[in-house]
Amino acid sequence: MRSVDVAVIGAGLAGASLACALRASELSVALVEGREPEAPPAQWDARVYAVSPGAAAFLDETGVWPRLDRARMTPVHRMEIFGDDGGHLEFSAYACGVCELAWIVESGLMHRELWESAKRQANLTLLCPAEPEQLVVDAQGVRLRLAGGQEVAARVAVGADGANSWVRRQAGIGARTFDYGEMGVVANLACERAHGNTAFQWFRGDGVLAFLPLPGNRVSIVWSTLEAHAGELLALDPALFCAAVREASGARLGELEIVTAPQAFPLRLMRVEHPIAPRLALLGDAAHCIHPLSGHGINLGFGDAASLAGVLAAAAPADPGEAAVLRRYERARAEPVLAFQALTDALHRLFHARAAPLVLLRNLGLNLTGALPVVRNVLARQAMR
Ligand SMILES: Cc1cc2nc3c(=O)[nH]c(=O)nc-3n(C[C@H](O)[C@H](O)[C@H](O)COP(=O)(O)OP(=O)(O)OC[C@H]3O[C@@H](n4cnc5c(N)ncnc54)[C@H](O)[C@@H]3O)c2cc1C
Repeated sequence: MRSVDVAVIGAGLAGASLACALRASELSVALVEGREPEAPPAQWDARVYAVSPGAAAFLDETGVWPRLDRARMTPVHRMEIFGDDGGHLEFSAYACGVCELAWIVESGLMHRELWESAKRQANLTLLCPAEPEQLVVDAQGVRLRLAGGQEVAARVAVGADGANSWVRRQAGIGARTFDYGEMGVVANLACERAHGNTAFQWFRGDGVLAFLPLPGNRVSIVWSTLEAHAGELLALDPALFCAAVREASGARLGELEIVTAPQAFPLRLMRVEHPIAPRLALLGDAAHCIHPLSGHGINLGFGDAASLAGVLAAAAPADPGEAAVLRRYERARAEPVLAFQALTDALHRLFHARAAPLVLLRNLGLNLTGALPVVRNVLARQAMR
């Protein structure tokens, strides 16, 4: 049996970043992943994230950020948000006193670099492909049995295995899921006009459309919309798909052309009863899912990883799986996770309301926020954490 201090199950962006953040700690780590990562797409990855300055600083500390290919990353200098009845709000990095509001980075690019970094890490054992079959918890630690009979003993297990977390189910931690009945349609498009390092977002009657700037005259779009409409969009031929996006965005960036074919993902809100249990912690999508309209899902996952790595490393050489250590993590993450879940859910409800007073209120709200630079900049700073 292999014995380590920390067993991380799931090497997505959240789990792999936690493992890498423990590089300089006194802890030994096993990273257990079900499948080998796919080779990064030669073309542009359809899944692209707006990485907040806070998350970028965390990845910088892990040593991964400086290794990312700058030619494939785009700083966001401005953001423009449009309501469905004349509302308009603008943020700029300059007004907020920062170099950029966020970085747009491909998921595959970050994942590949975290994976390569984990492979080089002296205090880390990578077990992949590995299928966990049983998790037994007692007062001293956890025992994880993998398919094929291999066993890993650890003082604490971390479930970073995504929204349908096996670890969460094994630990008996309940989760409440609200299905928005929507899909996020993502695609990369070439555009006629320069985006000027601006991210755009349109709150529309049929959902929320976002343009994230990519290098050159390209954007990544996320159109969160009802399942039936998403199905219709996916069934369109490329020219008609581009025409639909162009129309929905008021032709802001002119003619559009497909670079990466559209794909769709289901959207849901998921809250867990507790992100910790005896000798166990959850992070990333295993601990929470939010609507992508705030573009903050993975930033919350990186925030979890930064916080958990901090409390586990600080506990060493004492037992990192002690309840008091894990409670520190739970306390640190309670406020940011709840705040983003509540904010994105409230925005989603507000912009799906049909009642005339609410339509007026949401557009007035955008204009008022835009007219009050202090409020606007406070909001921007919250989003950059
Ligand atoms: C349309 C869309 C757009 C989005 N846009 C953004 C955005 O702009 N910005 C943003 O921050 N977020 C965005 N998100 C959210 C983001 O994709 C997720 O928050 C993020 O991928 C979660 O990462 P994770 O590592 O927690 O989980 P995952 O990416 O799900 O990784 C889980 C890992 O665990 C492994 N695994 C699963 N089960 C097991 C098991 N039993 N044993 C071993 N390994 C296992 C999986 O193979 C995988 O590698 C978006 C999501 C959607 C749907």
